[in-house]
Amino acid sequence: RPVVAIVGRPNVGKSTIFNRLIGDRLAIVEDKPGVTRDRIYGNAEWNGKQFSVIDTGGIEIDGEDMILKSIRIQAELAIEEADVIVFMCDAKAGLTQSDEEVAQILFRSGKPVLLAINKVDNMKRAEDIYEFYSLGFGDPIGISGSHGTGIGDLLDEVVDALPELTEEEYDEDVIKVALIGRPNVGKSSLVNAILGEERVIVSDIAGTTRDAIDTPFEKDGQRYVLIDTAGMRKRGKVYETTEKYSVMRAMRAIERADVVLVLINGEEGIIEQDKHIAGYAYEAGKASLFVVNKWDVVEKDDKTMQHFQNKIRDHFLFMTYAPVVFLSALTKQRLQKLLPVVKHVAEQHSLRIQTHLLNDVVSDAVAINPPPTDKGKRLRINYATQVAVKPPTMVVFVNDPELMHFSYERYLENKIRAAFNFEGTPIRIFTRRKS
Ligand code: GDP
Repeated sequence: RPVVAIVGRPNVGKSTIFNRLIGDRLAIVEDKPGVTRDRIYGNAEWNGKQFSVIDTGGIEIDGEDMILKSIRIQAELAIEEADVIVFMCDAKAGLTQSDEEVAQILFRSGKPVLLAINKVDNMKRAEDIYEFYSLGFGDPIGISGSHGTGIGDLLDEVVDALPELTEEEYDEDVIKVALIGRPNVGKSSLVNAILGEERVIVSDIAGTTRDAIDTPFEKDGQRYVLIDTAGMRKRGKVYETTEKYSVMRAMRAIERADVVLVLINGEEGIIEQDKHIAGYAYEAGKASLFVVNKWDVVEKDDKTMQHFQNKIRDHFLFMTYAPVVFLSALTKQRLQKLLPVVKHVAEQHSLRIQTHLLNDVVSDAVAINPPPTDKGKRLRINYATQVAVKPPTMVVFVNDPELMHFSYERYLENKIRAAFNFEGTPIRIFTRRKS
């Protein structure tokens, strides 16, 4: 999916436009609840073309003289990440020094830049945008974030400028693995450790888009691809300078993955940011496992592993299904345990349960613990069937979906898990009226 970035100095209205682009006036391709908290990345569609949008305004740095610095970082991120850049200015404020600064940076990038002038709230103001011609990005497009005018024209131009990306496509049996975790947890070290392992065959077919972002390899007859490894190797750049940015980068990798390795620093323990990223893997319906790295430097006795595992369970209540692997990327201690677990959870993620087996489990569950009544009405379950994999998704047909309570759905999920395991993968249950 090609990427569009919105760049401009603070208060030109980037977030309003961003929300319009990914908002419900357009077809939302996906809407993931967890991301709304501080959403700077979303998916949009226009004229049948799908793309992602980054609001670089989400990474503004606070503080008096930080404005220029923020703008510069944003512009660099946009250049690094985006296929098309929407450069926003403000018709009410007119052309400013900072706009010219941004223009300078964008100009050198060679990326397609569309110049959008926001706050053109009525046609009389149209002449206000002429001065922006001097920025050298061709015709300015007048828009109004608050009224919504001009957005369609802007989108037409965005879509025209999008490159034809050949998304990396991998065969069905290739397991796509994303490594996520905060800076210095050991992602690049783990990538190198895996690829340097004995009997790992690293293929030299690099990814096809931009700067060869994925690394395919084979081990014990199973093919894998490590997603976005280039981003990890390219050290010390704008990447990871801000927390939100590394979260966004992780989200993009998660979207493309089958299995997400959530790296945790064994030396330092679990922090809030770990939860945020893991939550996204859960919401995106990906298989996951925890990798506790730097296990070599942890002082251990025979209970340390169990204690650490309990801590993970306490912190990630929504991901109790995810196995935990302890290892050291540095010494390669226990490294050989990793890929078999990755393969196992990938299999669970695409497991398909036959309808009759599923229904045996559901009827047993109902027999042991019948659905509660609600205002004298009782939920009746007709049957259940699995409608999708990755993640396994079940539909339960009932007399009246309103009567299905969250706790009963949880109960069914637990019974289904107890029967079929589904280790390492979320499962989804939808309730539908039997027609
Ligand atoms: P990234 O930012 O997540 O890619 O982390 P790096 O792979 O760059 O690792 C950050 C630092 O932690 C480096 O100094 C590594 O040598 C060190 N490191 C990585 N894995 C381990 C490990 O298993 N044990 C120890 N002791 N250090 C590690």
